[in-house]
Amino acid sequence: MFLKATTETKEHAPSYYAASANWQTDYPQLEGDLNVDVVVVGAGFSGVATAVELCERGYKVALVESNRIGWGATGRNGGQIIGGYGSDPSAFRSSIGSEGVRIVEDMGSECVEIIKDRIEKYNIDCDLKWGYCEVGLKKRHLKSYREWADEEPAIQLLDQNEIKQYVNSDLYLGGYYREDWGHIQPLNLCIGEAKVAESMGAKIFEQTQITRITYGENPAVHTEKGSIRANHVILCGNAYMGNLVPYLDARVLPATSCIIATEPLSDEQLQQTMVRDVAVCDSRTALDYYRLSADKRLLFGGLSNYSGLEPANAKGIMQAKMIKVFPSLKNARIDYSWSGRMGISVRRMPQIGRIKDSNVLYISGYSGHGVAPTHMTGRILAEAVDGDTHRFDIMNKMFHLPWPGGKLLRRPAMAVGMMWYKMLDAL
Ligand SMILES: Cc1cc2nc3c(=O)[nH]c(=O)nc-3n(C[C@H](O)[C@H](O)[C@H](O)COP(=O)(O)OP(=O)(O)OC[C@H]3O[C@@H](n4cnc5c(N)ncnc54)[C@H](O)[C@@H]3O)c2cc1C
Repeated sequence: MFLKATTETKEHAPSYYAASANWQTDYPQLEGDLNVDVVVVGAGFSGVATAVELCERGYKVALVESNRIGWGATGRNGGQIIGGYGSDPSAFRSSIGSEGVRIVEDMGSECVEIIKDRIEKYNIDCDLKWGYCEVGLKKRHLKSYREWADEEPAIQLLDQNEIKQYVNSDLYLGGYYREDWGHIQPLNLCIGEAKVAESMGAKIFEQTQITRITYGENPAVHTEKGSIRANHVILCGNAYMGNLVPYLDARVLPATSCIIATEPLSDEQLQQTMVRDVAVCDSRTALDYYRLSADKRLLFGGLSNYSGLEPANAKGIMQAKMIKVFPSLKNARIDYSWSGRMGISVRRMPQIGRIKDSNVLYISGYSGHGVAPTHMTGRILAEAVDGDTHRFDIMNKMFHLPWPGGKLLRRPAMAVGMMWYKMLDAL
């Protein structure tokens, strides 16, 4: 597989989401100096959700984005609302205790509730649909579903025939369905939430890159044309923040994932593929994930890799993957193809913490699983600013380890790791 560097502009990637956005955001650039209570850097779900939570608590907030609202992973992802995290909280029992594990597990459901409540409360138009299936290609996948179903009443096990009532593919041995997870048009949710924050007084700046931070009790962020001083700075740049904060750069590995969108499918094509309008993931590490858009396109994602680069023929490779799952889509036209970067943390848990004992807080590293968790971390960060650091402290105790190998070796090391997982997937 040949890889190429992704060419990015300061406008949205050429995604189905950008093409179906409810409106084009056009907030001003920062010029001059400003004082606020909290400045949030990065306007993906992490930054925008944090801004909403802070505004709801009465804080004066500035939200600063290098490009456009939702330009990063947020405006390019699979749109799947999945509770929990990339990692099992019980793996952190030695650092956060059993009570900490219970609190983190509870937040794995609360994050979905936040999205549901926010969309309802503020009437955000973002094609919300409930229903999620995980599908298994191996007997061991089905075994893990059975074990999970024993503990989780929301899980409805499906055998090989039953799964076809949801996803009509011969590839799967079975799966499960749950109706409390689902999908959304992520860019429309994010720009809708930004509008909510704006309506509560947040000052939003686009195409404004933070190039320097002054740390301390009253930190400040600096751009080419101005600065913002605040009581707190919250860094939400995730996999797109580069080396602005070397401590975070060492702890976030940017990985690439690709998505294609077909033309709108006919009723006949839908019967042969997505019988039910649910979000779907398979259970491999290098997984396929897919769902329908509001206008019945199949949005099919996968091809995650840790090189940070995009395969040269991502569209063709993704199309072949899609046809493997749904051979009847052999001749379906592909209207959009794009990729995005997600931040991977060593332990695959979102990393929430504080830089150098200052009032500069951060969140990063959802490890490919952030649509719902970003809404939880936004709440935790706002609680911390508001003086309640209970949940922040628990998350912060889950050690945020640097990637081994430093800047030079971590990518090749991870690429080898990914090859290993792909081999295990195939067994
Ligand atoms: C292709 C793809 C598919 C995915 N599918 C799913 C899915 O279906 N379900 C799921 O749960 N998760 C999914 N994810 C993961 C999910 O999208 C992310 O975890 C989530 O969007 C992270 O949001 P964020 O706000 O932390 O980061 P981003 O959305 O990446 O936002 C960071 C923002 O910060 C800005 N920024 C960076 N540095 C600066 C600076 N110096 N100054 C100003 N602004 C700055 C960037 O421009 C960017 O807009 C997927 C990710 C990708 C890439």
